[in-house]
Amino acid sequence: MNNICQNIQNIEQNLPGYVSLVAVSKTKPVADIQTAYDCGQRHFGENKVQELVEKEAQLPKDIKWHLIGHLQRNKVKYIAGFVYLIHGVDNIKLLKEIDKQASKHHKTINVLLQIKIAQEETKFGMNEALLDDILQQYKNQAFPNVQIKGFMGMATNTSDKQQVATEFSRLSGLYETYSRELPEFTYLSMGMSGDYPIAVANGSNMIRVGSAIFGAR
Ligand SMILES: *Cc1c(COP(=O)(O)O)cnc(C)c1O
Repeated sequence: MNNICQNIQNIEQNLPGYVSLVAVSKTKPVADIQTAYDCGQRHFGENKVQELVEKEAQLPKDIKWHLIGHLQRNKVKYIAGFVYLIHGVDNIKLLKEIDKQASKHHKTINVLLQIKIAQEETKFGMNEALLDDILQQYKNQAFPNVQIKGFMGMATNTSDKQQVATEFSRLSGLYETYSRELPEFTYLSMGMSGDYPIAVANGSNMIRVGSAIFGAR
């Protein structure tokens, strides 16, 4: 068996059945994605719109594509027709644009709101006040062609496992709370190659793993 398949199998083996694995293929060639596809992987994540569009055109149509990075408003139109889940939504203008493009395609687009849980200033994500505001507008039908499926978060890049666990667990608590009033909530996207076991132990049900599958970038 090749390395990519072996890596996926090793990760899946230690993953509870309810956790979805998104294979993050950014910067990696189409051939690597095809290899992962051939051993059963269907969810793939990319962080750049142009790269995602190019790869989507060359690969099997039943792949579920996740846009995991920061998304600029003027690029939503390029992925609206096929994207499965947009993870990094952190402002109202972007939600409005996704809604508009979804409407043009006569479909609903699924998104996750990115919540800031890390201490680092560089990480994107909204605070809880904005989250409250957005969900209020959402409940009032402000984005009729968007379905908010849950939250995404990135922990601080630190060797302090306790801190990482605390950050994940805070987002998990928030997710639990909102899940009670929003039955469409399905995904809590937390955890990457370096921290996904901690994320899963703290409530994640969707992990985004790149280098542990495809090798270092
Ligand atoms: C690159 C990336 C990942 C995957 O990172 P690895 O450390 O390679 O697993 C996950 N999430 C986001 C948002 C990313 O940009």
